[in-house]
Amino acid sequence: MAKPVNSTKKPANLPGDKQPLREGEQLLKASFKNSPIPAFVIGKDRSIIYWNGALEKMSGIMAEDVIGSKDHWKAFYHEYRPTMADLIVNERQGEISFWYMGKYKKSDLIEDAYEATDFFPALEGEGKWLRFTASALKDSTGTLIGAVETLEDITGRKLAEDALRESEARYRTLSITDALTGLYNSRQFYDQLRLEIERADRYGHPLSLLLLDIDNFKKFNDSYGHLEGDVVLIRLGEVIRRCLRKTDSAYRFGGEEFTVILPETTGDAATILAERIREEYENEDFHPLDSLESLHETVSVGVAQYIPQEGVNPFLKRVDSSMYQAKRQGKNQVFFRKEQGNTKKQLPH
Ligand code: GH3
Ligand code: MG
Ligand code: MG
Repeated sequence: MAKPVNSTKKPANLPGDKQPLREGEQLLKASFKNSPIPAFVIGKDRSIIYWNGALEKMSGIMAEDVIGSKDHWKAFYHEYRPTMADLIVNERQGEISFWYMGKYKKSDLIEDAYEATDFFPALEGEGKWLRFTASALKDSTGTLIGAVETLEDITGRKLAEDALRESEARYRTLSITDALTGLYNSRQFYDQLRLEIERADRYGHPLSLLLLDIDNFKKFNDSYGHLEGDVVLIRLGEVIRRCLRKTDSAYRFGGEEFTVILPETTGDAATILAERIREEYENEDFHPLDSLESLHETVSVGVAQYIPQEGVNPFLKRVDSSMYQAKRQGKNQVFFRKEQGNTKKQLPH
């Protein structure tokens, strides 16, 4: 007599997905499906095996429309190209650097996995920044059977980082800029001068400095007011900027005094540049409201060439005394006193 069939017994030889899953497998599948992390799995032939709900949401592509196909690239790109998972499954790891140049690294946490961050213009209107990890899937014998790719939308974080970087850069620019003239301020002057002096001491190259001071500026302010005085300052800033070469830098040192640092420049060459600024400024027309005719302002300029190893303060003292000498000699002029140490030739530009 035949034995009754035990209804709980596993039916024999049902094909692949008809096979009832063991509890562990079911749990695994459910946790993948419901994971908040967008993810997909492809098999050895690159066709899609899993495509979870979070990825459906991110890509707008439903699992039922892609499972079994090789269309996972469509979630991320306008045109066909391999995803990181494809390169891993096809064992083309050597090409990762080509497709993700400068954007990827080997995972620190998982073996045979790569992480990358990239911008995907095809995603959701404006595009998205994604951080993604693709890992090889291997069976118990170590044979490659597929790859899993998980994705993280980091657009919000990326935008916040960019905004922070931008605002830091803006703040830094503001902190070294004089608001009235747009030239650098005295804080930046001291930083840059120290740097140039270090360089001049190390390489023995010439370095020169100009100190410009507007003549009789108090009188102008008293006659036409502070705001008209500001126009005179702004205009000197413009003239200086116009006359500078690429390597030179200009600063509002304070009040109506300006400085110019001239690397790789002898005092003689600096004197020529100073003279050009002085002359151009003298030719500027000013039309303050209370004046019936156009006015001309002038500037006195001190020039000094750095003496090797003398340091910041003596150098500044010498340029200051040159400027006062120009004032003493009648203003609207350039003064440069050649010192014993100023023997180095100027380098060709
Ligand atoms: P000198 O030819 O000897 O340089 O005489 P001066 O009148 O130019 O020099 P003094 O140092 O007596 O006066 C400088 C003036 O610069 C006084 C001050 O009110 C003015 N000043 C400083 N900063 C500003 C500013 O930001 N705007 C305006 N409008 N004036 C300023
Ligand atoms: Mg002054
Ligand atoms: Mg002055």
